[in-house]
Amino acid sequence: MLNDKIMNYKVLLFYKYVEVEDPQRIVDEHLKWCLNNDIKGRVFFAKEGVNGTVSGLKENIEKYKSHLNSFSEFKDIWFKEDDAEEHAFKKMHVRLKNEIVHGDLTNVSLKHGGKRLSPEELFNFYNEGKDFIIIDARNWYESKIGKFKNAIVPPMKNFREWKKVVDEDLNEYKDKTVVTYCTGGIRCEKASSYMVEKGFKDVYQLDGGIFNYIKQFPDTYWEGGMFVFDERRVVNPNTKKELINIASCYFCGNPTSYYINCHNVDCDRIIISCHECKTENEYCCSDECRASKNKRKVYHG
Ligand SMILES: [Zn+2]
Ligand SMILES: [Zn+2]
Repeated sequence: MLNDKIMNYKVLLFYKYVEVEDPQRIVDEHLKWCLNNDIKGRVFFAKEGVNGTVSGLKENIEKYKSHLNSFSEFKDIWFKEDDAEEHAFKKMHVRLKNEIVHGDLTNVSLKHGGKRLSPEELFNFYNEGKDFIIIDARNWYESKIGKFKNAIVPPMKNFREWKKVVDEDLNEYKDKTVVTYCTGGIRCEKASSYMVEKGFKDVYQLDGGIFNYIKQFPDTYWEGGMFVFDERRVVNPNTKKELINIASCYFCGNPTSYYINCHNVDCDRIIISCHECKTENEYCCSDECRASKNKRKVYHG
C-alpha cells in the first residue's frame, strides 16, 4: 500500500455482450438498487448486453457483484477490480442504450472477433521479438498518456472513427499479425471483428484489455499511465522511472500523466497538465479561456 492509504473501496470494470430481453426493466430497477447500496458510477444496458464501471465500499461491491450475477444473463460476468481510497464517481447513472459502446458498429458480428490474447501471450510476443503490429483502439487523448511499446495510435476523437481508421489507414497491415487493445477489452470486441470482416488475416484482441495486462505485468511493455473515465483520471501501474510518464505538460513540458478538461465550458478541451501548472493556470488552457464568463464554478480534476 502506497503512503499508508486505506483502501476501503473498490472500483469495478465490467461488460458482457449477451442478449438482454427487457433492458428497460433492468435499468429502472438497477438505479434504485445502486442508490440503496451506495454504489456510484455508470452502467449502460442495451439489448446487446451491459457495460459498466462502478465504485463502492468493499462490502457493497461484493453485494453488487452478487446482485448482477443473480440475473441469468450476467451470471458469469467478468469483474475487473481495483482497490481505491474512496468513491471514483460522484453520482450513479444507469442508462438504456442502443450500443453498449457507441461505435456505429451495430452491424458488426461478434462471431468474427479477433482471437483472444492473454497478457502472458502478449508479453511473450514482445519478449520473443515476434513480428506483429499492435494498435490502440482508444481515443487520442487516452493513448497520449499511456500506450503499449511501439503501438500504432490512431488520432481518433471517438470510437465512431474506428471504421474510418481501419478503412483508410491500416490497409497495409492486412497480412500481418495484428493485436488490438483498449482499456478493459470491450471496444476490441467489435474493433477486432470489424478488421476481420474487412479481410485482416491474423487478428488478436488483448483479453481483458490494458487493465488485465498491467495487473500482471507492470514495468514491462506498458508505457505511462492508463486513462480512466472516473475521478481518478489516471491509473499508474509502473514504478520504473522511464515507464511512469510518457506525456509532457502542455504548459511547462515536464513529464506527467495527468490531464484536465479546460474549465471554460465552451472550450472543455482535454489538456495534459502537471498539477503545478493546472493550479497556476486556473484549470484553463489559455488566457482567453481564463477570461471566459462561462467557467465551471468549482475546480474539478
Ligand atoms: Zn507543467
Ligand atoms: Zn480552453
